[in-house]
Amino acid sequence: MGKVVLGVAVAVAVTTCAVAAVVVGRRVRSRRKWKRVVGVLKELEESCETTVGRLRQVVDAMAVEMHAGLASEGGSKLKMLLTFVDNLPSGSEKGTCYALDLGGTNFRVLRVELGGQRSSILDQDVVRQPIPQQLMTGSSEDLFDFIASSLQQFDENAIDFEKSSIRKELGFTFSFPVKQTSVSSGILIKWTKGFAIKDMVGEEVAGALQHALDRKGLNMRVAVLVNDTVGTLALGHYHDADTVAAVIIGTGTNACYWERTDAIIKCQGLLTTSGGMVVNMEWGNFWSSHLPRTSYDIELDAESPNSNDQGFEKMISGMYLGDIVRRVILKMSQESDIFGPVSPSLSMPFSLRTPLMAVMHEDDSPELTEVARILKNVLEIPDVPLKARKLVVKVCDVVTRRAARLAAAGIVGILKKIGRDGSSGITGGRSRSDIKMRRTVVAIEGSLYTQYTMFREYLHEALHEILGEDIAQHVILKVTEDGSGVGAALLAASHSSKSVDNIQLL
Ligand code: ADP
Ligand code: MG
Repeated sequence: MGKVVLGVAVAVAVTTCAVAAVVVGRRVRSRRKWKRVVGVLKELEESCETTVGRLRQVVDAMAVEMHAGLASEGGSKLKMLLTFVDNLPSGSEKGTCYALDLGGTNFRVLRVELGGQRSSILDQDVVRQPIPQQLMTGSSEDLFDFIASSLQQFDENAIDFEKSSIRKELGFTFSFPVKQTSVSSGILIKWTKGFAIKDMVGEEVAGALQHALDRKGLNMRVAVLVNDTVGTLALGHYHDADTVAAVIIGTGTNACYWERTDAIIKCQGLLTTSGGMVVNMEWGNFWSSHLPRTSYDIELDAESPNSNDQGFEKMISGMYLGDIVRRVILKMSQESDIFGPVSPSLSMPFSLRTPLMAVMHEDDSPELTEVARILKNVLEIPDVPLKARKLVVKVCDVVTRRAARLAAAGIVGILKKIGRDGSSGITGGRSRSDIKMRRTVVAIEGSLYTQYTMFREYLHEALHEILGEDIAQHVILKVTEDGSGVGAALLAASHSSKSVDNIQLL
């Protein structure tokens, strides 16, 4: 009997020990997994580091590359394209002007009535229309006939202006890569964003639109051909004469600025009456070894249809931020089962769009309910524990903070190139304190900046860190609503009475 009792006691003790060992083992394993997941975050943080020292290196690299791109054709990854826009709206523009904004799946027709005084836009009318899918891959004639018809229908007084003897001036915003040949003409280099109209590549863009307008009998002239950044700069300058540059941070990113013609070395003998010209940087393609690059960026680039292209854009713009975050969560999910089995949605490129990433980032509910909802509904990861949800928010923070700070460094790079960063440009010389800083405005547009508060705040913070408070107080970022379209109408007005002969190529 005693032996039996002893036997049972031993068996119970052994079982208890075994159970305890299993529990402890599980805890140890789960702690190890958690450590691995945290390790993924730590590694991300380290490789995304943007100390102010590193940002200043990016600033310098941007200014140097701008210089190189202006020195010779192909001298830099920055194309530094001439726009032939040699004067910006001054505020004295008067009358009615039209604009067409084509740069994606939608196009817009605008009419702007100008009062002749700065910031006196009396009336503004906009119509948005999607481009039918078949026209994006058809013939150029079909596309431009469609656009011309929309323009004709747009104006209630279409009949009037058809017959009117006064020719209407039209600004054409065409946000695809164009080699500009004058302020109102340019040749399409290549299509992007889903367009593939073969007979247009290498052809004159404004001419194709002008022919369509003529076919419809519209008495309109394509007065300027610009891209969206130039339109934004024009509207910025119309409202505020201290505006020297424009930046767009939306689906993609780009910038343009006002440059002295004598600094555009690759085009020697370029003469404009104003002595300056807007340069379209195509800064999305900027690259420098100082950019903090991660394994996720490398994979994203390798899998993209334009690898080795648009490196800066792929770290900054709305098209990509969500996907970088997705790649990090995927890695965490592969390292442990903290997110359960790897879900098919999580493995799918671009399944997490940037606006939803922003919602997760800015979720301030104590239980992070929005994060849980998006993980479940969008990425098909249910029942994520709170501590893992907090980790996801941190990932969004790291990715957005890096993007915003690099964009800030890009902006300061432009300011440095034109001597508005409080130093004396890239050639060195006088110290910061010797220079009287002029009020400097940068026009800015794009939903990443306007709709994503954390992005905007990080960008402003970095701008202040890089420039220092004394200088930063003179630099103003101003949002210009609808600049890409309205700006083109303003440029059409400011270029209407003048001919392209203002610009001479000797
Ligand atoms: P586009 O650049 O296509 O002309 P926008 O300037 O409106 O148009 O930018 C759209 C991009 O901005 C989207 O692709 C998306 O990535 C990003 N975006 C839009 N809304 C938000 C938001 N609320 N938070 C973060 N990003 C956003
Ligand atoms: Mg846009």
